[in-house]
Amino acid sequence: MEFSAHNRLELFGHQEDVPYDIIIIGGGITGAGIALDAALRGFKTLLIEKNDFASGTSSKSTKLIHGGLRYLKQMEFALVREVGLERAILHNMLPHLVLPGKMLLPIVENGSLGKYSTNAALWVYDYLAQVDKEDKKKMLNKEETLEAEPLLYSENVKSGALYAEYKTDDARLTLELLKAASTQGAICMNYCEAKHFVMGNEKENHTVEIKDYLRDQTIKAKAKCIINASGPWTDKVLNINKGKLSNKIFLSKGVHLVIDRTKLPLQQSIYFDIGDGRMMFAIPRLNKIYFGTTDTAYTGDIDDVRTDRDDALYLIKALNRQFINANINLDDIESSWAGLRPLIRKEGQSSTEMSRKDEVFISPDGLISIAGGKLTGYRKMAERVVDLAEEQLRGKKSPCKTADYSFRCKSIEKYSEEDYYHVNYGSAARQFLDGIDKGNKEKRLYAELNYCIMHESCTSPLDYFARRSGRLYFDINGVKEDLDICLDYFSTAFNWTAERIERERELVLTQIRILSLEDIKKASQV
Ligand code: FAD
Repeated sequence: MEFSAHNRLELFGHQEDVPYDIIIIGGGITGAGIALDAALRGFKTLLIEKNDFASGTSSKSTKLIHGGLRYLKQMEFALVREVGLERAILHNMLPHLVLPGKMLLPIVENGSLGKYSTNAALWVYDYLAQVDKEDKKKMLNKEETLEAEPLLYSENVKSGALYAEYKTDDARLTLELLKAASTQGAICMNYCEAKHFVMGNEKENHTVEIKDYLRDQTIKAKAKCIINASGPWTDKVLNINKGKLSNKIFLSKGVHLVIDRTKLPLQQSIYFDIGDGRMMFAIPRLNKIYFGTTDTAYTGDIDDVRTDRDDALYLIKALNRQFINANINLDDIESSWAGLRPLIRKEGQSSTEMSRKDEVFISPDGLISIAGGKLTGYRKMAERVVDLAEEQLRGKKSPCKTADYSFRCKSIEKYSEEDYYHVNYGSAARQFLDGIDKGNKEKRLYAELNYCIMHESCTSPLDYFARRSGRLYFDINGVKEDLDICLDYFSTAFNWTAERIERERELVLTQIRILSLEDIKKASQV
């Protein structure tokens, strides 16, 4: 079965004998997009991801498929146009994962946004992105702005605007691309790290030494072309064989916090001025609100990025200042996530000034790297890289087929509140929810876990809670309740020892502690 956690050996057992056309290092949205594009153009493709799929930046974003409004400020017109057009394509292809919505932009006293400049900017944005009629901006007067979001301070608001901003689930979007790539013949393996590679003189001769952590084996795979799509790890991968030479990427940390919606019952997604020249999102997601983000230079451990006290207090203060009766404190934070933007370094620029554009660079030994960019632009990024690889391998490029790709998964009518996160599985949710007794929590969870293991290469409870269901972020209390059932299921499915079960339990509990900011909360009490 494609993309099942049970057939790793069958798919990936004897790599020394198999020469690939393309090996992709990195299983975030960038690598996943490249894998699908390459497989659709007939390349024999292997993608390796050292952790779980989407465990890097691609599960830590603001979860928006942007039209690119903020790039207007930086005068990046081509980028606004590209991401705007991409949004429409992605919505058509994956309607269950790219959900239309409206964002409110309040214009406030002493804010950085003016009514006329906002109107003009949104007009340019609609024009460049060729936005459909129903998505076009709407300018609001003071009363209409307050009606859209009654929790805004009336004395502060002058007017506002509503513009289109689509919501997504970043990790599930990545998985959907990987599932599609697998059905097209690509082999996509999580928990497999590129430890070393040898770039040969001839195209045929590149070799990647891969550590498969689940089988505890090191194997060598050959390829004609190697693509580095490792996001924040781009320099690390470039430096694997060379010591420390490459310094192309600037890492900017971005944090989001999650509270219960009863603590701040916003009715509208909102993008607001926070008074230090920056803007912040607050976004309802059924019974939760998430808000962020920060944008600070990061030089710490890329494999362990955490929200710190300053990040949390900065975001909480900005939120409290904006809304009536908002009195959020650290103890109200249920969950959080912290991710790294892999920006292309430009000396002399701060992280907010640095372009969000992607860049492709080819090392003297032929390694192709791509970094920067956005979740939203993944398809065009993939097209550019695969065009380049195809020119190297075939001396010409063929048409990219991803814009017309018909995903198996379609949207479904909404499930109940209780099953909210299942909406992001699209029609696949039918496979595991239909025909079972929905009142039986255990059966429902078993059915979902079975689906994730058999169809989404889910190898552990943490993979499930973090990247398949997103429950660690939006249902962290439910995770605690369901952990035992989940461990039971996995231990039977994979024949785990008691020691292994405890290790897996600890991995989930550790994440709960980190994401719920337990240590920061405790330190604040003393
Ligand atoms: P990653 O997702 O980090 O993937 C790289 C992968 O490579 C990792 O999973 C890593 O484990 C793997 N890897 C590293 N080294 C190796 C190795 N040696 N062998 C094998 N695997 C390896 N974009 C939007 O469009 N909309 C948004 O709302 C948005 N919000 C954002 C908010 C924040 C706070 C941040 C940080 C980013 C946001 N972005 C947004 C940008 C977007 O999330 C990123 O551009 C995108 O996720 C980067 O994906 P990637 O695949 O390049 O990197």
